[in-house]
Amino acid sequence: ITTPRLLDGIAIAAGIKTEVAAEVRSLGLQGVTPGLAVILVGNVAASEIYVRSKVKTCGELGIYSEMLTPPDSITTDEMLELIAKLNDRNDIDGILIQLPLPSHVDTRRLLEAVDPSKDVDGFHPINAGRLLAEGYSGSTSSKSGKLALAPCTPAGIMEILRRSDIEIAGKNAVVLGRSDIVGKPAASMLINASATVTVCHSRTKDLAKYTREADILVAAIGRPGFVTAEMVKPGATLIDVGINRVTDAAEVEGFFPGNEARAALFAKRGSVVVGDIHPAAFAISGAYTPVPGGVGALTIAMLMQNTVTAAKARRG
Ligand code: NDP
Repeated sequence: ITTPRLLDGIAIAAGIKTEVAAEVRSLGLQGVTPGLAVILVGNVAASEIYVRSKVKTCGELGIYSEMLTPPDSITTDEMLELIAKLNDRNDIDGILIQLPLPSHVDTRRLLEAVDPSKDVDGFHPINAGRLLAEGYSGSTSSKSGKLALAPCTPAGIMEILRRSDIEIAGKNAVVLGRSDIVGKPAASMLINASATVTVCHSRTKDLAKYTREADILVAAIGRPGFVTAEMVKPGATLIDVGINRVTDAAEVEGFFPGNEARAALFAKRGSVVVGDIHPAAFAISGAYTPVPGGVGALTIAMLMQNTVTAAKARRG
């Protein structure tokens, strides 16, 4: 048995950011500065952390960014007005509505109000449809060469696989989870990259039967350590999308037996972040993405890339 290869999301993301910064510089020579507007509604601490790191990364790469922070009480109509203004502005190439939104606003209506050419999250039905119809599989343009703004997390998964030279065509890929933002688009991209794809979810019967056949297993369900060693094929590539906060000491020890660094981190913070795949499964894999430091690291890099793609398509 060979040692499992750690797929370092932080290093891969750094490579993508360097490429994006170079593209931003060359757009700059043509007088174009890509611009991203991020809308953060209300005071959601977790969302604020995400938004701040998006804005910070824009600054590092030379992308103009603007953070709009309407209060929790904003109505759907007021949000629609805000989005319409951003749609009309030529200096804004990307519009991102940080989710989740307060329950009184109509999230679907707002996502559909974003100009599809500025939809850097790839959540607009037009872009979701293009992903299916135009064979986009994770590079910056679709088969037809048209603008492809694809959801950032699945696009990041494809970048990890490609940049790590993991063969996709002809392989069995199993995706756990069928959300609109991760599971479904990840499955579409893997189909477009010629994998044989199975999607499992909470109603799947005998789920391990499928996971054990996977050459590439993508876990995006939000259940700490759900995928155990018995559920994976030795040598498989394991992509762990899950971000789960564990606050129970015994559970942490179960994840990382005898791991003093994790125990110290837990003692300091009262919680640790773990994925959907148990580390014991990583141990028998061929390659795996760690949590943290795997897929999560790619999400912002792909957002930056989408912003530049949108700027080039609109103004480049
Ligand atoms: P959702 O909650 O929207 O979807 C979860 C999916 O998992 C659903 O399809 C659900 O099935 C399925 N599921 C839940 N429990 C089980 C189970 N016991 N067995 C089989 N399937 C199950 O989550 P997201 O897709 O938004 O996120 C998934 C995970 O990825 C979360 O941990 C989230 O934090 C993380 N995430 C990480 C990102 C990153 O940047 N790394 C970005 C986005 C998410 P059903 O449809 O039947 O209910």
